[in-house]
Amino acid sequence: MANQKMSGAYGTREWAEHTDNVILGCAHHCKYCYACTMAVMYGRVTAANWTNEVPRQGKTVKLFSSRAMIPSTHDITPQNISVVLPRILELLRAGNTLLIVSKPHLECVKELCARLSQYKDKVLFRFTVGSPDSDVLKFWEPNAPSCEERLEALKYAFGEGYQTSLSIEPMLDTLENIKVLISRAIPFITDAIWVGKPNALIPRLKINGAYDPDTAARVQQFEAWYSDDNIRAMYQEFKDNGKIKWKESIKRVVGIKIPTEKGLDM
Ligand code: SF4
Repeated sequence: MANQKMSGAYGTREWAEHTDNVILGCAHHCKYCYACTMAVMYGRVTAANWTNEVPRQGKTVKLFSSRAMIPSTHDITPQNISVVLPRILELLRAGNTLLIVSKPHLECVKELCARLSQYKDKVLFRFTVGSPDSDVLKFWEPNAPSCEERLEALKYAFGEGYQTSLSIEPMLDTLENIKVLISRAIPFITDAIWVGKPNALIPRLKINGAYDPDTAARVQQFEAWYSDDNIRAMYQEFKDNGKIKWKESIKRVVGIKIPTEKGLDM
């Protein structure tokens, strides 16, 4: 898992060829955050100040050739929605189709649903939840909403007639509990539930300053929970369910061909 060499499309690039981001930093402070890792490696932030959300000025609005994902390196929070929502509207007015990805705050989703109503057919929400247990989420994603709030946001967007999907990546709980999460969420999904293992966890945790003994012990649990045999068994259980899709980390284990990357941009 850690440090494996990646080839083919993986991460957010399995979902969208184009991404758009207007904030540097993220208040949610997830221990495993890849965006934080990259920003620290490129000297844009320190791990300690990643939670400061700084608007990025002067980005032009493009008409992308296919659906664009927003955001991919931050989230939509009560503190930044006054910056992110106008950007989403600009992208939609320019003719784009959007994948809006978030660990959702219910108040933000209510505002998004209200303000984007004329673009419903151009918007697909994808909400990330890695465990049905809010204590587990609190450990890994200390400032992000609880599981209950995220599922409430999913139900709300679904009830408002939006296209909805879920990301269970990274999985943060036992496979039994992941199945519980799937069963709770699936009635409110119009599109798909994507399932994936944590990727390159230890290097990310080290760079993000989050590799303490308690966290290391949990990473070891993941190695047992997500053994190849366990992943194959889960795949067998869900492989005929058209709403369950597998991220690259699982495709590799079960032998599904991984698409090659096209001309992708960040
Ligand atoms: S919500 Fe996303 S961008 Fe924000 S800290 Fe967590 S993983 Fe990083």
